[in-house]
Amino acid sequence: MSWDFSTDPDFERELDWMREFVRAEIWPLEAVWHELGLDGLSRAMAPLQEQVKERGLWATHLPPELGGQGMGQVRLGLMHEILGTSPIAPLAFGNAAPDSGNSEILAMAGTAEQKDHWLYPLLAGDLRSAFSMTEPDTPGSDPTQLRTRAVRDGEDWVIDGRKWFSSNGSIADFLIVMAVTNPDARPSQRASMFIVPADTPGVEILRDVATMEHPWEQFGAYGGHAEIAYEGARVPASALLGGEGEGFLLAQHRLGPGRIHHCMRWLGVARRAFDMMCERATYRHAHGSLLADKQTVQNWIADSAAEMQAARLMTLHAAWVMDTQGASAARTDIALIKFYGAKVLHDVVDRALQVHGSLGYSTDLPLEQMYRFARAARIYDGPDEVHRQSVARHLLRGYAPPADGVPSEHLPTRRALARERFRELLEAVTAND
Ligand SMILES: Cc1cc2nc3c(=O)[nH]c(=O)nc-3n(C[C@H](O)[C@H](O)[C@H](O)COP(=O)(O)OP(=O)(O)OC[C@H]3O[C@@H](n4cnc5c(N)ncnc54)[C@H](O)[C@@H]3O)c2cc1C
Repeated sequence: MSWDFSTDPDFERELDWMREFVRAEIWPLEAVWHELGLDGLSRAMAPLQEQVKERGLWATHLPPELGGQGMGQVRLGLMHEILGTSPIAPLAFGNAAPDSGNSEILAMAGTAEQKDHWLYPLLAGDLRSAFSMTEPDTPGSDPTQLRTRAVRDGEDWVIDGRKWFSSNGSIADFLIVMAVTNPDARPSQRASMFIVPADTPGVEILRDVATMEHPWEQFGAYGGHAEIAYEGARVPASALLGGEGEGFLLAQHRLGPGRIHHCMRWLGVARRAFDMMCERATYRHAHGSLLADKQTVQNWIADSAAEMQAARLMTLHAAWVMDTQGASAARTDIALIKFYGAKVLHDVVDRALQVHGSLGYSTDLPLEQMYRFARAARIYDGPDEVHRQSVARHLLRGYAPPADGVPSEHLPTRRALARERFRELLEAVTAND
């Protein structure tokens, strides 16, 4: 078995280019992107997207036949760590959520016609998409309880239900909707996915839900989370994505790599917060010394460095398992990093904010925005508790109750067995006394 933590030099050069490009071209845009609005942001992004395409780094999550690089998850992970430093960097690289995950499902399960109609324009940046699964009235953490129904009516499917938190739903051209098609099937086979154009009669985008991230009412902004009513929304049979009853299967495929990319992007955010924390410690003087000289601050810096390193290695390891052994072998590793990575992000941002005092709490620094972003990471793509439960269940499968009800490590029992086994030796020692 070999352990090699190096990145091949050719790809390291690409990573260096990305680091420089994101810092020089994209970080400056962050300060005005809300003012630019959607159209202005698209115009600002267009020349940057061209440079990324020329460099061959556009939509790298997809296989080569679809214009991607077929990079594998380890390289994608390293790339996302850089893109994660800015909320808008993934836009410049054609791999912003939810379009990236949706393009993966379309590439995996779409028919040739669906790819022509939806995938290629999505990849070209000519269309926007949303993933519409979570419902306000059923637990998103247990999607077997979904209530939105799609019922076959002649050559069509008719969709009825209510969704919310469909990210980018209010600016999407089409929605990938998860709906129950066979309520009597096994729970994992009840739902299917449909491609639903946003202008389908019966689809009503009700609002962008105001959240911690966007506490003010808004509509039609990039990154909004839409509440959507589907009332008799009729789509043709050709709108079914994948097979009937394959909704959960496709969702699992979509979520595995997506979680690795999330975790690496979070590390990009955490690193930026960490840099701010360290910088602040070097010049803020209080109670007779710099913050850098206070043991509590030193502990925060050291703990943050250790936790980020641990999360990074765990995430790259999960990516490596996925690349070398496939998605199902990586399931537990991915569940592990999803909740651990979210906590590391939260804790590092929290400490950085604390070290800055009121400045950290203010909107003069991006820390308060990072903090709100970090809070959501513990919920989307599965709340922490669900991932912990799945890790624990998997690990517990490797254990069984002791046959006689005595703990395996029970010392009096082990001592009695050892005395029996080593009786001659013990007798010899006693005889020598
Ligand atoms: C920023 C953001 C973006 C999102 N984007 C999308 C999107 O694009 N498309 C989409 O369809 N959805 C999206 N979601 C929704 C997200 O996937 C759901 O919020 C998530 O799956 C949890 O579902 P829920 O909100 O219904 O919470 P519930 O399922 O009601 O869970 C609430 C809480 O119950 C507890 N809980 C649940 N199960 C267990 C358990 N087994 N053990 C212990 N405790 C448990 C947890 O503490 C959990 O947080 C987004 C959410 C956020 C916050």
